[in-house]
Parts: sequence; C-alpha cells; structure tokens
Amino acid sequence: MLLFETVKEMGHEQILFCHGRNPDIKAIIAIHDTSLGPAMGATRLFPYVSEEAALQDALRLSRGMTYKAACANIPAGGGKAVIIANPENKTDEMLQAYGRFVNSLNGRFITGQDVNITPQDVRTINQETNYVVGVSEKSGGPAPITSLGVFLGIKAAVEFRFQSRQLEGLKVAVQGLGNVGKSLCRHLHEHGIQLFVSDVNPAKTEEIQRLFGATIVDPEEIYSLDVDIFSPCALGGIINSQIIPFLKAQIIAGAANNQLGNEQLHSQMLTEKGILYCPDYVINAGGLINVYNEMIGYNEEKAFKQVHNIYDTLLAIFEIANQQGITTNDAAKRLAEERIISAKARKTKEIAA
Ligand code: NAD
Repeated sequence: MLLFETVKEMGHEQILFCHGRNPDIKAIIAIHDTSLGPAMGATRLFPYVSEEAALQDALRLSRGMTYKAACANIPAGGGKAVIIANPENKTDEMLQAYGRFVNSLNGRFITGQDVNITPQDVRTINQETNYVVGVSEKSGGPAPITSLGVFLGIKAAVEFRFQSRQLEGLKVAVQGLGNVGKSLCRHLHEHGIQLFVSDVNPAKTEEIQRLFGATIVDPEEIYSLDVDIFSPCALGGIINSQIIPFLKAQIIAGAANNQLGNEQLHSQMLTEKGILYCPDYVINAGGLINVYNEMIGYNEEKAFKQVHNIYDTLLAIFEIANQQGITTNDAAKRLAEERIISAKARKTKEIAA
C-alpha cells in the first residue's frame, strides 16, 4: 500500500499510529477532515487480519464520519480509531494508554463507543482524556432521537416519491425491533401507518403486534413484501444483489448502518429499479446529533430541533439526485462536500481578514 498516495486520494488530514510496549498497544487514529469542527468518531477494537486492513477500516470509516456530520449540519468533522487487538486481551491499562494518545491530540479528535468497546471501557478511556462522548448518558440514550430522525426521513421520502404528505394508510415493513425499531413503530403507528414487522426474537414481534396491531412476518419474508416502504433497523449489508430483485417497496428508509452491501453498485441498482434510497448515514444521524449535544451540554429541545434538519437535508439530496441523474448516495456526498468547501472558504476569509 502506498501510504501517502492512499491518504491523499481519500483526503485525510492526519493519521496517528499509536504504539506502546508496556502495556502492549497498537492503534490507529485517522482524522479525515476538521473543516467543520473537531473530528468525531468512535473507537473500534478488533483482531484485524493485517495492519493494512486496520488502516483501511480507519480511513474508510473516518471519511464516512465527515460526510455524516456535514449532512447532519453539526459543527464536527470526521475521525475514527481502531485498536488492533483480540477482545479477550483487552485490559484497562491498554485502554488508559489509548486514552493518553487521544488526549495528545488536544481535542482535534473526540471518540466514543464502537465494536468491542463497552460503556465501561469508555469510562476507562475517560480516566486519561476528556475527549470522549457517551460517558454521561444525560439524554437517556440515542434511540429516541435516531428513531425520530428516521421517521422524519420517511416523511421526506414519501413527500418526494408520492408527491403527497399523506402517511395514513401507507404500509411499512420494519426489520429489527430493538431500541430504534420499536420507537420508530410507535411514530409510524401514531400516524396511521400499517406495520409489518420481523425480528429474530419472537418476544419483540409479539410486543409490537400487541402495542400497535402490527402483522408479524418471518425474517426472510420481510424483503419481498408488497409494501410502500422498507425500513431496515437491524443489520448492515442487507441490501445486496441477492435481495434487490425481490424488493417491492418504493422507498428504503431505515436506521441500520451500512445497509448497502456495496455502496456504488447497490445504490446504482436501486436507482435503476426506481427505488428511492435514503442514505443510511443521513437518515440515522440522530445518534451523532445526540452524542454531539451530550458533548456540548445536553439540551433536549436543541437536539430535537437539530434532528428536524434530516427532513430538509433528505429533500435536498433527492432533488440533487434527480436533477443531476445520480444516486442518492452520490448526491449526499456532493451535498456534504459543498458544505465542507464553503466552511474552508469561510475559514480562509476569516484568516485573511
Ligand atoms: P438493537 O440491538 O437494540 O436492535 C436490533 C434488533 O434487530 C434486535 O431486536 C435484534 O433481535 C434484531 N435483529 C437481529 N438480526 C435480525 C434479523 N436477521 N432480522 C430481523 N431482526 C434482527 O439496535 P438499535 O439500537 O435498535 O439499532 C438498530 C440499527 O440502527 C443498528 O444497525 C445500529 O447500528 C443502527 N443505528 C442505531 C442508532 C441508535 O441510536 N441506537 C444510531 C444510528 C444507527
């Protein structure tokens, strides 16, 4: 891998390779862009097959965070950290050493919890640095804000696709009834939407049937239902070449991260099939809006107001995609890049003044 070539191509500002012997630690912190604010990105601990795979993950996910924050209209940039380790070998000393590396960046990078990092681990990292989020849980967790964002995204998609604000009577299939899926079902039910739901845990589907009169379907059947909207709220990678031919829904709008198996290929396939795809990192930005607000001092009213931007942002993305004949995924990236370029221009002007 040509390191500087790759970094240049992806546009990163800084990569920090963290190494320590005692305790033994190998971590990579990737800062993609700080034009809009400090780079925010969670820390993932994973036994990567190679150091190159770890670096690729950090580079790809940090760039994704830049787009996510820009689309969410919050003054933050994109970052990501990966600790190369087996979860069984994770120790407090390792996390504290990692915390000192985060601290050395003096707030250019702010981190939180991702794969194999628990809330307790975040508190351990917090012993060495204040540049962490998700310690206080002042908001009571991100799910209510995330589900509201997804609901607003569904409203925007319905308005754009069906040229109507009428939600009553629409049919929505929700995959996954965890923290976000359940709360989303409540919003949808309150607006007269007919629900079709699946979860691998029967207790969850039964609860949603009892609460909101939902129809329970088998996990494999959820993709091919004759519904208006499919809302993935469980797993990543589920929109792929095997599933797309079976989809009957005209809109895909859900909370799950990384819904597309292959971003370029599958967003193109959805566009060709006439399915309106709400880019996952735009519609599920409520989680990021939540942690950002916890960081600056949680104010529920402000956080809920910010989440309403998701509606306008998605309408803008659909318009760009339509006018420029591109996928909604590419349109979201263009919108994010425009916001970043204007922020950079503003900064240059301020420095010159
Ligand atoms: P969760 O773990 O509370 O719920 C996930 C649900 O999906 C569980 O009920 C699980 O049983 C179910 N599930 C697993 N495999 C399934 C399958 N094959 N078919 C149907 N159901 C299945 O998670 P959550 O917090 O509700 O988040 C849901 C998704 O949204 C995740 O992909 C998460 O990364 C993403 N997301 C969540 C937030 C948030 O605020 N919690 C923010 C952004 C993105």
